[in-house]
Amino acid sequence: MSEEALLQLADLDRVLDRLRAARAGLVERTRVEEIERHLRALSAELSDVEAARVPRAGALRAASAESERLRARATQVGARLAQSVNAREAESLHEELDQVTHALETAEDAELTALVEMEPLDEAIVTMKSRAQPLIEERAELLETIRDLEETLDEESTARSLEREALATTLEPSLRQRYERALQRVGGAGAARLVEGRCAGCHVALAPADLDERRRAPEGEWTDCPSCGRILLG
Ligand SMILES: [Zn+2]
Repeated sequence: MSEEALLQLADLDRVLDRLRAARAGLVERTRVEEIERHLRALSAELSDVEAARVPRAGALRAASAESERLRARATQVGARLAQSVNAREAESLHEELDQVTHALETAEDAELTALVEMEPLDEAIVTMKSRAQPLIEERAELLETIRDLEETLDEESTARSLEREALATTLEPSLRQRYERALQRVGGAGAARLVEGRCAGCHVALAPADLDERRRAPEGEWTDCPSCGRILLG
């Protein structure tokens, strides 16, 4: 009766151990970490390009505002020139119009330069964002898969743990204590079968003296594996 319970307990503990290992070692998590490394690198690259774009965008805004102001001024001067009847005033207006036109060309050149410099940066930003997008989607899918898998594994673990608790309470307290101590010390399970002179827990062969001692043990008493300390059954 106790031996059967110990064997079942050992089986359940091995299952619980495998469930814990499966939860800790989900391959999806490795891929998520890889994706996050990629995304961090992309984000750093994006920050650099965006930082390089800032002064150009500022220059473009300034040049555009200046062009606009100069165009308005040119229109104004042109209108006054059209109405001018005084030769000296007309000459002075002509002079101003030339200056304004020249300044406008300079401002428009500055606008164009800023635009030309911004173009590859804008393209790079679009490329980086389009590279990040599928990674972000893949990560979201993986995180959902991980959540589902963890939920399934946790449900299974909870069910098995309840089963284990119910079983463990059927053991005589000192035997249970012995089992739990062995389990804590060695992990996996606290008992193992003896198969062809070897402990099935640690796979170490028992010395002839240990096998003798085991044979001499009274019914319902078990020796521990000298190598791993698990209760030897069977
Ligand atoms: Zn052993």
